Amino acid sequence: METTTEHVKCLIIGSGPAGYTAAIYAARADLKPVLYEGLQPGGQLTITTEVENYPGYPKGTLGPEMMDDFRKQAERFGTDIRYGYASSVDFTGPVHTVTIDEMKTITADSIIIATGASAKWLGIESEQRYNGFGVSACAVCDGFFFKGQDVAIVGAGDTAAEEATYLSKLCKKVYMIVRRNEMRASKAMQHRVEHTPNIEVLWNTETKEIVGDKTVNGVIVYNNTTKQERKLDVQGFFVAIGHQPNSMIFKNWLEMDDVGYIVTVPGTSRTNVEGVFAAGDVADKTYRQAVTAAGTGCMAAMDAERYLAAKGIH
Ligand code: NDP
Repeated sequence: METTTEHVKCLIIGSGPAGYTAAIYAARADLKPVLYEGLQPGGQLTITTEVENYPGYPKGTLGPEMMDDFRKQAERFGTDIRYGYASSVDFTGPVHTVTIDEMKTITADSIIIATGASAKWLGIESEQRYNGFGVSACAVCDGFFFKGQDVAIVGAGDTAAEEATYLSKLCKKVYMIVRRNEMRASKAMQHRVEHTPNIEVLWNTETKEIVGDKTVNGVIVYNNTTKQERKLDVQGFFVAIGHQPNSMIFKNWLEMDDVGYIVTVPGTSRTNVEGVFAAGDVADKTYRQAVTAAGTGCMAAMDAERYLAAKGIH
């Protein structure tokens, strides 16, 4: 396999609101950023629909369109945006090394990590067996395939509530599987769920198994209070139980919390490695919003700029 090496002043890994905002600021500061988009160009907002809480869009906007605008803005100032993912890193020396797609080596004076987070799974075997055959972690991506059918969604946060509401518009019936007797979702989202006639919330309920033939035709659930089991006759099963930070490749190098969120110096985007900065959901277990990701992306570019200036790297 061919191996090539290239040196850049500022390498940005990831392409959600954090990565693109870092790119806009880094490009305008003449850091000549190179941005690798990762496996999901545009990040999590590309698998959502309406974004109603991003300031500056009084009528709301669509997630994929918003990310397209972010990308264009980053390109306008000269960001070199490339398709590819960071497969490993080496932060031993003052110049950091990142391997792209397991074959290309990039050395960088500064690195901004904006790799975001990915959907979590329940961890039952049948979930992976039927993944793509009735099981999905993205209602907005796959809901269409279950038009007019019955589906179930597991989770009780804002994502699950939002996705249940979304599915209710396409599907005949939506079971929402909630493991406690209350939801974590905001009151407004809960209100929306409760007032949607074709959503049935199953409280104190957990998933035992997903069943089917080639594709899903049911889910065995049990009530964790009464211990009673029942089969839901559904053709689709959606998982919406939160996210895991995409920080695996940095594990041996960067300080992280027990879940894997990268730890930054409070009030900055600095990690424990000089010249390596983190922004967006990969370093944020609390807020995880597009606007906060964009904000920390801006911080990371400014921190990188100051770091490079202090080192006399032009
Ligand atoms: P959350 O972490 O907020 O919620 C995850 C949910 O999944 C919880 O209700 C949790 O249950 C449940 N859960 C976790 N593991 C399991 C399991 N093994 N089995 C069954 N249920 C499980 O994640 P979200 O993705 O919903 O939201 C993440 C963040 O994004 C939040 O801050 C949210 O407010 C925000 N968000 C905002 C939106 C908006 O403003 N429009 C839209 C979507 C998300 P339990 O409660 O029992 O722990």
